[in-house]
Amino acid sequence: MQNAISMHAFIKVRLVFRTSLTLLAGILFATSYAADVIRIAATTTMVADLVRSVAGDRAEVTGLMGPGVDPHLYKATAPDINTLQSADVIFYNGLHLEGRLADILVKLGRRNKPVYAVTESIPEEKLLEPAEFKGHYDPHVWFDPRLWAHCIETVVNALAEIDPDHADGYRQRGAATEQAYQNHYQWGLDYLTTIPEKQRVLITSHDAYNYFGRAFDFRVIGVQGISTQSEAGLADMVKIIEFIKKNDIKAIFVESSVSPAAIQRISEASGCAIGGELFSDAMGLPGHIEKADDGTSFDVGTYEGMVKANISTIADALR
Ligand code: ZN
Repeated sequence: MQNAISMHAFIKVRLVFRTSLTLLAGILFATSYAADVIRIAATTTMVADLVRSVAGDRAEVTGLMGPGVDPHLYKATAPDINTLQSADVIFYNGLHLEGRLADILVKLGRRNKPVYAVTESIPEEKLLEPAEFKGHYDPHVWFDPRLWAHCIETVVNALAEIDPDHADGYRQRGAATEQAYQNHYQWGLDYLTTIPEKQRVLITSHDAYNYFGRAFDFRVIGVQGISTQSEAGLADMVKIIEFIKKNDIKAIFVESSVSPAAIQRISEASGCAIGGELFSDAMGLPGHIEKADDGTSFDVGTYEGMVKANISTIADALR
């Protein structure tokens, strides 16, 4: 009898204990989930900026590449591997931009880590497939803000799936980001109208500006081809020098993430000025504020600042 009572008491105690443990776990889980942020890894500065705009204060975004870093040549460092492995979700540009990160991203994706190329939500018919890069799309889509706006959808949907309780917030910030990108595009169109038609030629180090050219009505010539992996050939340089002289081009441009050597040589040989440095595959230093002629000021460490800094540099040199 005593045995039975103590057994009963034991079961009761265990039940109470289990219930409170479950409750406690529930409270702990709920609290930590609400307060906890999602850990996101992003590759380029542009992808990190887009993801931050959509995620707001729900996420801690770690960008692998800093200002001035060339994503075509970038290899993951040991700390990068840690960042990628401990992230809840990974966003990258895709379209073969991050050529040397592809293997690790595939490996992580296979281990059920959510990995997204933000460019996957761009309709295929809007992508360019330049002849010199046969079989591949041009990855430099961020230079047309309308095209970059398509990438927001991938991020909104991914975050809403991972964190459904806050899906509305992601959708709202996504819509606001899209509106902002459309505004940047309109600002660019207005700002560039002062450039005469025959000066609407953009000569730079590598072919990063095809989408820019299509969006803002410029002829674009890259000395080095689509990726920075190949060097400019002498024959190409001679052709560009002839073109500059024949068309009386006022300025050519160096890029922040590519060696300026080829452009400097062309400038010397043709007598054409260097119109400034454009941001190509990375944004600028965060907190560095620049101002356009119309009084607009912007932080070159943001996507908006990158777009506006490039447009004002181009307009100032070519008009
Ligand atoms: Zn590039």
